[in-house]
Amino acid sequence: MVSRRQLLKGFGVGIAGLMLSKLEEIPCLASHHGGHGRHKIVPPDEAIARLKEGNKRYVSMKCLKDPGIGPKVREMLTKGQWPYATILSCSDSRVPPEIIFDEGLGRLFIVRVAGNIINPALLGSIEYASLHSTSRLVVVMGHESCGAVGAAVHAFEHPESKETPAIEDIIERIMPAVKKAHKKTGATGKVLVEAAARENVKMVIKQIRDQSPSLRKMQTKGELKIIGAYYYLKTGKVEFWV
Ligand SMILES: [Zn+2]
Repeated sequence: MVSRRQLLKGFGVGIAGLMLSKLEEIPCLASHHGGHGRHKIVPPDEAIARLKEGNKRYVSMKCLKDPGIGPKVREMLTKGQWPYATILSCSDSRVPPEIIFDEGLGRLFIVRVAGNIINPALLGSIEYASLHSTSRLVVVMGHESCGAVGAAVHAFEHPESKETPAIEDIIERIMPAVKKAHKKTGATGKVLVEAAARENVKMVIKQIRDQSPSLRKMQTKGELKIIGAYYYLKTGKVEFWV
């Protein structure tokens, strides 16, 4: 026998399902992302504005009811992808780009790695998005209390400490930023971690430019922007360095 409570519970699910199917009728990409222009290249400044708007919605908890994640969007995206920005961010579980920019499927090309560092494969991923897809904005995003930068600062302050070879590879890539930040500020410990995380973003932007003639060429022509950003854990706010 079905209890009244179970019936009400079932009804609730029914209502939720109805609401969801109605939401899915909304052509979310058309309404939120410029309609027929969705397959076109989004100019870098427009892409920055979209990310800022999305982050503002996230910070104020006024996220879109349907950011574009439903079956219709999934079906449309079987034909291809049209991201408008590439985000190189940390793997840290507290910094998921689609959530903090309130964005749906197919709009952000995400390259995530601990410490938002660069190596040939990661640079290749950024090149792929910039040269072979619609993304013309690269955002290198660091964040507060980064564990990878913290590990590099620890290695700097305790040179005798050792990690696994793979973690050491990440640490070595961040180390020049730690040394530069320490030289500039004289900071140690947690203060150095923050200074080094910011320095790391600047260094990675320069590495992308220096190591990729193709992206450098696009940037010089004004076709591509490579910018820095910094995420604050408590407020959820992204500071754009533009
Ligand atoms: Zn991190």
